[in-house]
Amino acid sequence: MFVGLLKIAKQCNDCGLEFRSQDLGDGAAVFIVLFLGFFLVGMAVVVEVQFGPPMWVHLCLWTPTTIGGSIFFLRPFKALMIALHFKHGLLPTGKANKIS
Ligand SMILES: [Zn+2]
Repeated sequence: MFVGLLKIAKQCNDCGLEFRSQDLGDGAAVFIVLFLGFFLVGMAVVVEVQFGPPMWVHLCLWTPTTIGGSIFFLRPFKALMIALHFKHGLLPTGKANKIS
């Protein structure tokens, strides 16, 4: 489904389902920003209230967590978006895309 880290392949290697017309836009990123942001801000508040560390500790904790978490979750969320597009019939209806 992917070529490289985050680029989506033109079509499935197994069944030929076409992904090239997929325009996910920022769909996956929006969910990640919302969920990961909610989670990490909550964690930062808990750490601040429980331990009261200096600001550099927050920087060292949350900067790599935010960047790494975003990259980690982007791929499964993109795959989820494509799966939802497929489920709801938003992929092009080529011969290979008809599985019913
Ligand atoms: Zn396939």
